[in-house]
Amino acid sequence: MLDKKDIELWNKFLIELEKRLPGFVKPWIMSLEPALPFSEENNGIFLIKSSQSFGIQVLQQKHLKEIEETFFEVTNLKRAVRFVLDESLKTKKKPIKQTVDEKSHIETARKMEDLAQMHSFCGLNLKYTFENFIEGENSKFAYRIAQLIAESPGQKYNPLFISGSVGLGKTHLMQAIGHKILRNFPNLKIRYTKAEEFGNKLIESLNTCKNTLDLNEKMRKFRQMHRSVDVLLIDDIQWIEGKKRTEEEIFNTFDALYHAGKQIVFASDRPLSAFELIPDRLRSRFEWGIEAQITIPDLQTRAEIIKHHAILSNFPISNEVALFLAQTYKTNIRELEGAYNKASALASIEGVELTVDKTVEFLELDKIKKQITIADILETCARYFSIDKEEILSSARAKEVVNARKYAIYLSRELLNLSYPMLAKEFQKNHTTIMYQHEKLKKDIAVNKAMQIVTEELKNLLAK
Ligand code: ADP
Ligand code: MG
Repeated sequence: MLDKKDIELWNKFLIELEKRLPGFVKPWIMSLEPALPFSEENNGIFLIKSSQSFGIQVLQQKHLKEIEETFFEVTNLKRAVRFVLDESLKTKKKPIKQTVDEKSHIETARKMEDLAQMHSFCGLNLKYTFENFIEGENSKFAYRIAQLIAESPGQKYNPLFISGSVGLGKTHLMQAIGHKILRNFPNLKIRYTKAEEFGNKLIESLNTCKNTLDLNEKMRKFRQMHRSVDVLLIDDIQWIEGKKRTEEEIFNTFDALYHAGKQIVFASDRPLSAFELIPDRLRSRFEWGIEAQITIPDLQTRAEIIKHHAILSNFPISNEVALFLAQTYKTNIRELEGAYNKASALASIEGVELTVDKTVEFLELDKIKKQITIADILETCARYFSIDKEEILSSARAKEVVNARKYAIYLSRELLNLSYPMLAKEFQKNHTTIMYQHEKLKKDIAVNKAMQIVTEELKNLLAK
């Protein structure tokens, strides 16, 4: 909870921000709330909540530097400011004192909010445009097809099936299609959804109905939502594999849209050829159009991507640092961006320039890279879970063994940056299994405090 002093500081911070930033962002400033008490360390980051996704994007992308400076001036605390979306704040009404002067700002903001509404209705991220996508040999074909689709949706290349491994820009490219269509054909309706969200909503409609009438009504609404659009973008379609009811609903949705000449785009972190369980009739639908694969970008392209991201984040970096990051993070652009985000946040807190040396220091690359080997990881995980090292590489299914194994895979990937095929060899498993175990644990850790602690403890043991 915030104490009285925090509240005073917070109000002062808002007043200073209003003075410093352009008038039209004022309503967004008023929507901000601190996520934590000021004194809380949280890795040097100060988190601010808002219910306005577009406002967050504008403040973060255009005014971060001024916000951080103001924060420092008011609180004397060096923090990197970050924003989180909190939809629940929407329902809390705040009394807003409105003067004539403010009214015009609110009008401007409202117009921009309309735009934001439009985007959020489609579920699109404002960063994911064609302009912000750096094209390389790895993505040339997918990029070109995506542009053609955005110029004439539903005409050719239907469906488009974008495939490629995790963090290589599939979601970005898919949403770029959405943005461009919104701009070129403002009357077309677009919906972006993740397959998992589609599946969960479907099951919810099926499970929460009280009787047949209610079921019909719920299903009518569900179908209306996905079938009344001109462009349907379904992300992470690999999720549906083996989920019969969802597969069937995707199949029917596809047919309804396809026959009405509507555009459908799928993205998947597996190529079509690696889908083993889907029914043939659904597979044949996926194959009707065109598959475009995105592969790993080369060093130069990775460096350009990270430089561009740095400019968008308002903390540009030198060519040298960009190349260094691109050399260090080779297989996943999300990880590359994550590393940049951390290094740049720490540099801005310390008020130093981000050099290669500083990057190594902030990302603790020296510690991790030099000392730890996969044998260390196996040994540490085995010891931590009180099992024998050999058991990790066996196919034993005892709980501790499974646990030790999954943390060992996770840490080998995170700390040693080993590719999935290399991990597969080390752990004597096939590489899709490794990939899924790693992705699953990563997701679980993100939301589970106890698992975060285990990971930290293991890392600390390894660092010794
Ligand atoms: P995927 O859906 O393939 O897992 P995303 O589309 O979520 O990956 O991309 C991860 C991050 O990397 C996003 O922030 C995205 O903007 C960025 N990214 C990936 N490829 C590119 C690219 N070619 N140009 C610019 N940014 C990229
Ligand atoms: Mg994605």
